[in-house]
This record gives sequence, C-alpha cells and structure tokens, in this order.
Amino acid sequence: MKRRVFLQRIGVVATLPVFSFLLPIQVVANGIKQTAIEPLNKPHKVWRSLVSPEAYRVLFEEHTEQPGSSELNHEHREGTFICAACYLPLFESQHKYESGSGWPSFTQPISGHIGTKRDFKLIILRTEYHCARCGGHQGHVFKDGPPSRGERWCNNGLALKFVLKTDQLPALRS
Ligand SMILES: [Zn+2]
Repeated sequence: MKRRVFLQRIGVVATLPVFSFLLPIQVVANGIKQTAIEPLNKPHKVWRSLVSPEAYRVLFEEHTEQPGSSELNHEHREGTFICAACYLPLFESQHKYESGSGWPSFTQPISGHIGTKRDFKLIILRTEYHCARCGGHQGHVFKDGPPSRGERWCNNGLALKFVLKTDQLPALRS
C-alpha cells in the first residue's frame, strides 16, 4: 500500500511540468495582479480546419519551420504578436529583437500567457513553450539572449500573427 502511494506521488511529480500550463496560476507583474488564462480545450481535429496545414504542423505536432522562412523575421513595426490558433496575445513588438537565428525572437513573452515544458527530443534538454490558452506549440526558450533577462524566446513565425498597434486585436477564438 505504501509503495503504491509512493509511486502515485512520483507519477504526479513527473506529469506536473507537462501540464503546468493547465494549473490556475495568479501572476503578479509590475504590481498588477493578472487573471490566469483559462485553458481552451479544443480538440486538435477542430484546429485542423481553422489554421493552415503548415501552421497546424507547428502548433499541434511541434514541427519547426525552416529558419529564415517567416515574413515575421522582418516585422519591425509597433504591435502585438498573437497566437495563430486562438489569437491570445503572446509578445509585444518592443521585446522583439534580431537574434540572427532565422526565427522571430523575443526577450520576453507577455506575462502569464505562455506555458513551458521540458523537451528531450534532441537528446539535449530544451525548454519548449506554448500558448497558455490553446496549448499550441510556439517555440523554445534559451538562456543566450540579450541583457537584462538573458532570455531568447525563439518562435516559429507560422505560430504567430502580427497585429499593428493601430489596428484592433481580434476577439479570442472560442
Ligand atoms: Zn493559442
């Protein structure tokens, strides 16, 4: 009995990082208490009809687009980068920078709008990140970014849409 309880606990600990984006977390940023993002549990097959096949492969099968292939690499206007699936705002343009990697890169995401999990696909440990609302894969975060945070949020352009500051953000997809 004791052994079973122990194994159950290990099981819970092992699955926590994977489902961390599902946990209701209150985020405090700049002294402002933000409401946690409520997960949108839409089946993958529904997303398949809402996004392009290329975007679907990145967002819901964790593919990586070819470096240098995204028009968003050259997007330097003021605005917001939103999730290409559910339209949740993920990055602000003032945090975009040229990393030289060939993928749109940011120094930080919008607080509370991103979830992370550990990814061992390439043998080396990487930190995968995704939209906190729909779970759509966005990219990986590395610790070789510019000061002060030292973070490089390396994003697939196919997983994002850009909205000019002068345009209204689209309503979140439900
Ligand atoms: Zn999303």
